[in-house]
Amino acid sequence: MHVKSLLLAAAASAVTFASPVLAAPAKPDPALHAQALELLTKGIAFRTVIPGDQVQPYAEYLKGELVKAGFKPDEVKIEPVEGSATLTARYAGTDPKKKPIIIIDHMDVVEAKASDWTRDPFKPVVENGYVYGRGSVDDKFDVSIVITVLSKLKREGWKPGRDVILTLSGDEETLMHTARKLAQDWKGAEMVLNGDGGGGQLAEDGKPVFYGLQAAEKTYADFTITVTNPGGHSSRPGKTNAIVQLAKDLERLDAYKFPVMSSEITTAAFKATAPSVPGPTGEALRRYVANPKDQAAIDILSADPDYVGQLRTTCVATMISGGHAPNALPQKAEAGINCRIFPGTPSEEVRQTIVKAIADPEAKVTRQNDGSIDAPASPLRPDVMAAVTKAVHARYPGLTIVPSMSAGATDSMFFRALGIPAYGVAGLFMKSSDDFAHGLNERAPVDAIDGALAHWEVLLKELAK
Ligand SMILES: [Zn+2]
Repeated sequence: MHVKSLLLAAAASAVTFASPVLAAPAKPDPALHAQALELLTKGIAFRTVIPGDQVQPYAEYLKGELVKAGFKPDEVKIEPVEGSATLTARYAGTDPKKKPIIIIDHMDVVEAKASDWTRDPFKPVVENGYVYGRGSVDDKFDVSIVITVLSKLKREGWKPGRDVILTLSGDEETLMHTARKLAQDWKGAEMVLNGDGGGGQLAEDGKPVFYGLQAAEKTYADFTITVTNPGGHSSRPGKTNAIVQLAKDLERLDAYKFPVMSSEITTAAFKATAPSVPGPTGEALRRYVANPKDQAAIDILSADPDYVGQLRTTCVATMISGGHAPNALPQKAEAGINCRIFPGTPSEEVRQTIVKAIADPEAKVTRQNDGSIDAPASPLRPDVMAAVTKAVHARYPGLTIVPSMSAGATDSMFFRALGIPAYGVAGLFMKSSDDFAHGLNERAPVDAIDGALAHWEVLLKELAK
C-alpha cells in the first residue's frame, strides 16, 4: 500500500514542530542519481507480483548492489517466507547497547496487466521526466533510494551509533506474512522508519504544500453479517425472509455513527490544515479545532469523505450475497462489512458494536480472516519530528510537517502491534496528478530522486547516531 495523508487539502501554515534549522540543501550527486535510477529501472523489470517467483531474484540483485558497496555477504540475508522472500541487511553500529533502527520497504508490487497499460508495466521506460512501470512509486522508488543511500554511507565509511537494519518484505500487497515475520525477528528494536508511508505533497505548479509524517494507521477489519432462515417455497411467503431481514440490519448499521475520537496525531493534523482550507469545510475545521465538541462542525466534516475517516471508526457494507434459487425463500443472506478502526479501539469491540447497532439477535456477526491485526498509533517522538523536520527543511525551508493517520494499513502495523513505534517517512514529493500507485501507468518523477536521497541520508545520520 502507498497511502498518502487524507488531508490533501492542507497548505503551508505556521505550524511546525521544531525551529527550522536551515541546513544547506545537499548538492545533488550525478553518480548517486544514476545509481538510484538504475536500481529503480532494473528493479521494475522483476515482475514481483505475488503469487510469483521474482521477489527472490530481485532480492539477489539488491544484495549484489549492497555487497558491491562494501556490505559483507553474510551481513545481507535473503530468506524464503511463505511463497515470497525477505531481505535483511545489517549495517553495524558502534554501540551494541543501543537498540537498532529498522528501515522497512517492500519488494512486491500490485498486479498489472500489460493489455491495460499504455506501456508494458514491467518494461521500465524513462520518458518526459518520469520512470514508468509497476512499482516505480510503490515501493521500488523508496527501495532504490534507501539501497543507494546505504551504499553511499558504506563506501564513505560512515559508522552509525546503533545498528541500522534494512528489512525488505515480499508480500505487503497481499498476505503480509513476510512483515509479520520480520517484526518478530526485530521485536526489541528502537523504532521503524517505513519508506512505504508518508511523503511530500506538491501543488500542480510544483510548489511544496506540506510533508506528511505517517505515525498511525487505522486498523483494517472485515466482518460478515449472516442471517439464516428455514427458507421454503417462494409462493408461500411468511413473516421471515433472510434477505429482507439483512436489509433492515444494514439500514440500522448505516444509521449508526461510531463516536468521534481524536489522538495527538489527528489533532495536530487538523490544526495544521485548518487555517488554509477554503469554504464551509475550512470553516468547520477551524470550529472543530477550537472546540472538538462542536456538533455542527462534526456533522459537516463527517459528511465529507476526505475527513470522516480522521474523526471516527467507519464501517460500511461492501459485499452482499444471498438466496439460492429464484423460486425459493432465501435460507441465507450475507453482507460483508469493511471497517477502518480508529487506533486504540480493539477490533473485537467494533464487532460487538456492530451487533448492538443492528439489534438483530438472529444475525451472526463474525470477523473475517483478513490478515490485519490491531495496532496502536505511534507517539510523535521529538527526535523523529526533529529529524524529519531537518530533512524536509533542508529542501523546503519552513514547510509544514503534518502528522498523519492513514486510512489503510502497511507493514508498519506488525511492528506497532509489538510496541515498536513506526513512522512513514518516505522522501518522495509528488503532485496528486502524478499519483497512480496501484493503478494504471504508475510513474515516478525522475527529478524527485535527488531530494529523496538527501532526505534519507539526513534521517539516518540524525536518528542512528
Ligand atoms: Zn506500498
